Amino acid sequence: MTTSTQPSIQPSTQERQAALKAEIAASRDREALIKAQAKTHEDTWGKGPPFFSSASFAFWQEVAKGHFHIASCSACAHKFFPPRVICPACWTPDTCTLQETAGEGRVFSFTESHAVPTRVIPIAPVLLVAVDLDEGVRVLTWLMDTPLSEVKMGQRVRIAVESVLERPTYVARRI
Ligand SMILES: [Zn+2]
Repeated sequence: MTTSTQPSIQPSTQERQAALKAEIAASRDREALIKAQAKTHEDTWGKGPPFFSSASFAFWQEVAKGHFHIASCSACAHKFFPPRVICPACWTPDTCTLQETAGEGRVFSFTESHAVPTRVIPIAPVLLVAVDLDEGVRVLTWLMDTPLSEVKMGQRVRIAVESVLERPTYVARRI
């Protein structure tokens, strides 16, 4: 009969304490980053759009410059919208990267909304459209300058950033 000494797979107390310290430091770094981003976001946008995460921070900073992007996961290449911190396909955190898009796609569904926020009343009613972009990503937005009677399922549209009510935002137009 042979005896062998198995290496311990349990981390030592020191290892556990070092890991915990590193985790706390990382969490403080993340907190500091989010605070700095929230400040920049407020400087850029004032009262809106809302600040949700590092992923949405990057997206809205690009919108402020006139660029519309979709999101892509750097771990599994899944494309999605809106940008979010955790990939909806592989659930890996912090892999969201912005990807350029022509913004072209087809109307998947639509409805006319008369119940809008106060700020949007000057352009009400608005046409809400779900657009399936050619990249396979679905985006909910407004379809501009189109009467309800002229919208068709499958209609080709392009999403781009425009100034709407004196603020840059992403909207769709027929092409
Ligand atoms: Zn992924």
